[in-house]
Amino acid sequence: MQKNIPVTWSSMPTFEEYCETIRPLWDSRWLTGRGALHREFEEELKKYMQVPNVALFANGHVALEVTLQTAALKGEVITSPFTHISTSHSIVRNGLTPVFCDINEEDLTIDETKIESLITDKTCAIVATHVYGYVCHVEAIEKIAKKHGLLVVYDAAHAFGETINGVGVGNFGDASMFSTHATKVFQTIEGGIVSYNDKERFAAIEQITNFGIVGNFGVAGKDTIEYVGTNARMNEMEAAMGLCNLRHIDEEIAKRKVLADRYTERLSDVKGLRLLKPQQGVKYNYAYYPVIVDGFTISRDELIAELNKHSISARRYFYPSVDSAECYEGKYSAENTPVSHYYADRAMVLPMYADLPMEDVDRICDIIIGGRNV
Ligand SMILES: *Cc1c(COP(=O)(O)O)cnc(C)c1O
Repeated sequence: MQKNIPVTWSSMPTFEEYCETIRPLWDSRWLTGRGALHREFEEELKKYMQVPNVALFANGHVALEVTLQTAALKGEVITSPFTHISTSHSIVRNGLTPVFCDINEEDLTIDETKIESLITDKTCAIVATHVYGYVCHVEAIEKIAKKHGLLVVYDAAHAFGETINGVGVGNFGDASMFSTHATKVFQTIEGGIVSYNDKERFAAIEQITNFGIVGNFGVAGKDTIEYVGTNARMNEMEAAMGLCNLRHIDEEIAKRKVLADRYTERLSDVKGLRLLKPQQGVKYNYAYYPVIVDGFTISRDELIAELNKHSISARRYFYPSVDSAECYEGKYSAENTPVSHYYADRAMVLPMYADLPMEDVDRICDIIIGGRNV
């Protein structure tokens, strides 16, 4: 029996390092709610991400929901359908209407040349996803947003640790959400980080994360409840995992790069497989290794099944194009976003994690290349 190769595998510190980091909790008994580790993690993140402000959350999805609630928007939001269902859910769950804009073929991010034709007098924001760490065309989007007075929020769940021309990716747009779920490149078990630029505009973000309570935590008679907030707090065990993993993140990304380079070397000349080209000026985190199966001897789904037969997990990602999710049935026409639908049927990601052995990358490539003869 061949060993299983998962599609992802969480990076973790040593058991001792984690235990050392959480040890103070056995004295303080302060387990959640802006504790000492939470605050230390925020400071370390601001330095690492080179951003002015961060807020921490229980998960990435709720971080996006709270960010949109804090911005107090109304109306329509232009967004990409080639993303995690979380992106559009965060819009709908805020009482806003998603308007799907198609994606571009080079890097599968929102096609900024199609945004302006979708703007109406109800449009209030653009919420776009950095896909597999390939960043949206941030300058062009910024120009459109400025011209029409729109807020820009990035779903940067895939982009932790990246820079664009040396600038931390979290500086672009008004706010960016990074997921630190166990399967992401940088993980805190469950968790989310929002970086934001305008302190005033997002002043309520932490209060909305804590039931909308404003005032002195726990000081009798001093609290007022100014927002219909939620409970979206990150706890101290998660912040500790983040503090530990942050110490090793550069090494982890460097290991992923070596593996990604090998995949590229082995697969770039295979007819019917398309690899995405690196974008100019972007320092990647190698969170995923995407492959577009287009004109190959077998279909994307058959290739995934073939890998599964060899105990290798590969997955469709993203699938389906979000506008065709069952919960939106009858609301959107696939004809408006043909490129997204095309790639939802052809894109997949291969196993990628820092501890993936190079022999396994070679074995995966052998099977894929062999797939030509299936
Ligand atoms: C993972 C992910 C999310 C959701 O993050 P969670 O931390 O799992 O809630 C949102 N958007 C994208 C693009 C993601 O990959």
